[in-house]
Amino acid sequence: MSEITPMMRQYLEIKADYPDTILFFRLGDFYEMFLDDAVKASRILGITLTSRNKNADGNEVPLCGIPYHSSAPYLAKLVEAGEKVAICEQVEDPKLVKGIVKREVVKVVTPGLVIDDASLSPKENNYLLALFTDGGRWGLSYLDLSTGEFRVTELADLQAAVAETACIAPREIILPAAFRDPAQAKALAAVTSDRTVTYFEEWVYDADYCKRLIGNQFNGATPATLGCDGLPFAVLAAGAVLHYLLETQKGQAPHVTSLTPYAQTEHLVLDESTRRNLELTATIADGKRKGSLLGLMDRTVTAMGGRKLRQWINYPLMDQKRIVERQDAVEALMRDPGVRTEIRALLSGVYDLERLNGRISLASASAKDLVALKGSLSRIPAIKEQVSLLGSGLLADLDGGIDPLEEIRDLIAAAIVEDPPFVLRDGGIIADGYDPELDELRSISREGKGFIARLEAQEKARTGISSLKIRYNKVFGYYIEVTKANVAMIPEDYIRRQTLANAERYVTPELKEYEEKVLGAEDRIREIEFSLFQKVREAAAAEGERIARSADRLATLDVLASLAELAHDRAYCRPEIHEGDELSITEGRHPVIEEIYATERFVPNDTLLDNGENQLVIITGPNMAGKSTFMRQVALITLMAQMGSFVPASQARIPLVDRIFTRVGASDNLARGQSTFMVEMMESAAILRGATPKSLVVLDEIGRGTSTFDGVSIAWAVAEFLHDNKLHAAKTLFATHYHELTELAVTRPGVKNFNIAVREWNDRIIFLRKIVPGGASHSYGIQVARLAGLPVEVIDRAKEILLNLEKGEYSEGGVPRISRGKKAQAPSPQLSLFAGDDDQIRQRLRDIEVSTLTPLEALNVLDQLKRML
Ligand code: ADP
Repeated sequence: MSEITPMMRQYLEIKADYPDTILFFRLGDFYEMFLDDAVKASRILGITLTSRNKNADGNEVPLCGIPYHSSAPYLAKLVEAGEKVAICEQVEDPKLVKGIVKREVVKVVTPGLVIDDASLSPKENNYLLALFTDGGRWGLSYLDLSTGEFRVTELADLQAAVAETACIAPREIILPAAFRDPAQAKALAAVTSDRTVTYFEEWVYDADYCKRLIGNQFNGATPATLGCDGLPFAVLAAGAVLHYLLETQKGQAPHVTSLTPYAQTEHLVLDESTRRNLELTATIADGKRKGSLLGLMDRTVTAMGGRKLRQWINYPLMDQKRIVERQDAVEALMRDPGVRTEIRALLSGVYDLERLNGRISLASASAKDLVALKGSLSRIPAIKEQVSLLGSGLLADLDGGIDPLEEIRDLIAAAIVEDPPFVLRDGGIIADGYDPELDELRSISREGKGFIARLEAQEKARTGISSLKIRYNKVFGYYIEVTKANVAMIPEDYIRRQTLANAERYVTPELKEYEEKVLGAEDRIREIEFSLFQKVREAAAAEGERIARSADRLATLDVLASLAELAHDRAYCRPEIHEGDELSITEGRHPVIEEIYATERFVPNDTLLDNGENQLVIITGPNMAGKSTFMRQVALITLMAQMGSFVPASQARIPLVDRIFTRVGASDNLARGQSTFMVEMMESAAILRGATPKSLVVLDEIGRGTSTFDGVSIAWAVAEFLHDNKLHAAKTLFATHYHELTELAVTRPGVKNFNIAVREWNDRIIFLRKIVPGGASHSYGIQVARLAGLPVEVIDRAKEILLNLEKGEYSEGGVPRISRGKKAQAPSPQLSLFAGDDDQIRQRLRDIEVSTLTPLEALNVLDQLKRML
């Protein structure tokens, strides 16, 4: 560009520092975007793209702009689209400088760091997550800037890091620059695709630098004082997050007051496919929350409670004591519907204190936010009173931790009007009686206005012009307006200011004197109001930690009350949690499916699993019988129990389970370029590697994606491994339509057979949905196909082929004669699918007509038979 303007030069210089953002460049009342940014933003925002220097050849600069006053929705839309936006303001008063105004980027808004309500979903956290690895262990940290939650952990390998990242579901990820390399990036593709990724150069991951960042953020704390001793990778990941805060927020995040380390072993671990298969927070079919376990369980009445419940589902506990504490609280709340209803009603008027707190600390809270804080705090004493009625344990702890923050509540009540405007600089925020100086100025202003009215009356009388008016506009201030027809009647002391088509405008010295007083007062009022508001906001910000602590306790109370409400509504029972190995459920139901079946009755089923005689339960039965439903219900009941929730059963004893694994038929990763069978095998491999005797394994139809023989063989070997290998002998539910697997129970002491009962009736089947001991005798696939409406001739032919297969008819080459029709059938004894060489020899022998055989033929046959051995 040859004729570059000084302003454009300034723009390009600033833009060079923020290459991967869209730069909002403040020009007067607009944020302008130029060049590629303008092209991209105009497309995302659907606004007009124009250009500067239209005529200068080859020098066109694409441009688009948005008004500064109403930039929030545009900003939200860009961030929603995964963009980062750097906000560049004028940092000098344009009136006071000659030439170009100084501009600086004051903040970068990124998808992982939004705090604006418009860009956030109330019941979901908005996480920024950082990963670091040296090729071995992984450090992981994540921050929700809107609430201040900041956690770190370390993970053993890539798989664990991916699973944990998928569970946290961040909006944005920070990675070391090495992951720009496509080969490296591939390893993380599962969690990075569809997300904004920011790469940091190696120097950021310097232990000393990261420790310094931690010290700066947390009042001189060290990794050791924060409990991150021995977690060097976690420290580097946390450092990366803090470095990003420095770059984007200029380090301003005072409400991020602690860094909480956690270990995977504190929780029941769920890998990515298990979380998906069990539809914990989203359904498989459409990714929606409705229809998921969370969708069913969520009866919370606050946004904070909604977020916490999601965390409880994602991180069930492993600590019996903590689980029992939660259960006690749920039980107390369940037993007392009056108190529960009252608490929930009170909580429903509590705003999102965590996010209010975030905005207050980041000085972006409005006066309405402060009023919302006050309103929420005012409900606390009544909430505490109700909680204290229930009394002990966790509820008593919560009661103790919920702080009514009376002085903040009273301060806001005294200082801020009930219904303040959104705009902060136009006044109307501070209540009368809060500040004497403000009150005085307001009375001057009011009296000034009264004076104008009196003066108007007085001038009308003095001049005899009844249409005379005193008015105000921004350019001339107060003036007296007289219509042309009456101009002759004006007194001498009127000074003409402006002539209009049919009127003249005048001022008088008296009018000007009052104007100065009134307008001066109004300017001063605005100034004082804004500064008083800031002081109140700062006073609230100073109590950020107390507000955060209360918010956390209120969220927990909301979740507990929600669990109690659910348990009451759906007649759940309190499960007994124990350290032993028996998992027994009486009359268990699938929590989500039972609710969908509002009218049709859901058939409850019992379960018994342990690490002895009932370690591996093989479940056979036709498709659609209810095998998957049954197995998922066992997994969900276990998970709910470890959350501290009651469960859909009449009785349950649940041992502490370290991991739940599921391998369920339907998942298909074709989008990621892997065949269904490959995914199935990879998931199975992960289970066989990771399962322990304390795990719960749910296998649904292993080996279905390949040939029958392959499938049965793999299924058989997997089951044997899970039974025989004592390091991996997890409590296992194994559904299969290979009824051959029921033979395992004969040779393996820990294997039990169950099937889901069906009744055959006129060649049809009726599903009874009841799980009963014993194996199914066959698969009923053809009956199910009939139910699905396959044409009769196809059904009949399939039955014929099945008969051949079950008879084990083979050609000389060992190929089943599946295509043989009815007429060609020779009667033969029932052979199993495993019919081997012996049976073929037998068959051959049977086919020989000895009476017609020549000696030479006999020798040949003998030779053939020998070769078949
Ligand atoms: P399978 O895994 O044996 O093919 P599913 O578990 O998918 O069968 O169940 C098929 C359907 O049967 C489910 O969609 C559900 O609607 C219904 N179902 C399953 N279990 C029950 C039950 N215990 N009571 C009532 N209906 C059930």
